[in-house]
Amino acid sequence: MIDLRRCGRGVVAVTVAMAMFPTTAAATEGSSAEAGASQSPIDIRTSDVAFVDDLPSLRFCYHTVPIEVVNTGSPDPETTIRGEVESRTTLRSNGKNYSLLQFHFHTTSEHRLDGEVFPMEMHLVHQAEDGEQLVVGIWIEAGDHNRDLAPIFADLPADETEKLTIRRFDLDKLIPDDDDTYRYQGSLTTPPFTEGVQWIVFDEPLEMSLEQILSFQALFPDGNVREPQPLNDRQVLSDVDDDA
Ligand SMILES: [Zn+2]
Repeated sequence: MIDLRRCGRGVVAVTVAMAMFPTTAAATEGSSAEAGASQSPIDIRTSDVAFVDDLPSLRFCYHTVPIEVVNTGSPDPETTIRGEVESRTTLRSNGKNYSLLQFHFHTTSEHRLDGEVFPMEMHLVHQAEDGEQLVVGIWIEAGDHNRDLAPIFADLPADETEKLTIRRFDLDKLIPDDDDTYRYQGSLTTPPFTEGVQWIVFDEPLEMSLEQILSFQALFPDGNVREPQPLNDRQVLSDVDDDA
């Protein structure tokens, strides 16, 4: 079976044009400290999620790229460890290309699932040419040592003065095998909390060892998360199999 999520040679692009997510133009101006009604993160309540069998496909055209890993100012809770991606690598969704700008980490998780909090969450921040932002969120749970993330977590920059350069980092390995997701329209989770952000949260978490998780938590002893925000009149869509 052809994996349409990947961008390998010979895989024909399939564009599913759906009006499910009307693409807002450029993200809403967000310089105001006043947060709007479509904020992130949220507690995803599965009883309120609308099951949609054919959500727009996701094609990760991720590559092995050089990254620069920076500490944006721990232990400040609005900072993080960020992997900056300079060469072009994209996610295609709903007929649109989104370039991956950076990925970063939170502890604990920002999104919750039926109230459950995970030890960490990774955010892959993308932007389309028209300015629309799309963030892929992936929960991280304690489990096996994560070899793919090890180059980062074995040598986390301790403060803003340190920088870690990784010449070959395989971004594709960061995406879970199971492509079931939750999707909704939200915002950045750090100031200025800009809205108009398309959120795609994977149902399947990644695993990292407790040692890896603790190495991150040591930099952010009080965490670096925003509290869940009210859903208001938004609808979370999902293609996660409901076996109830
Ligand atoms: Zn984030």
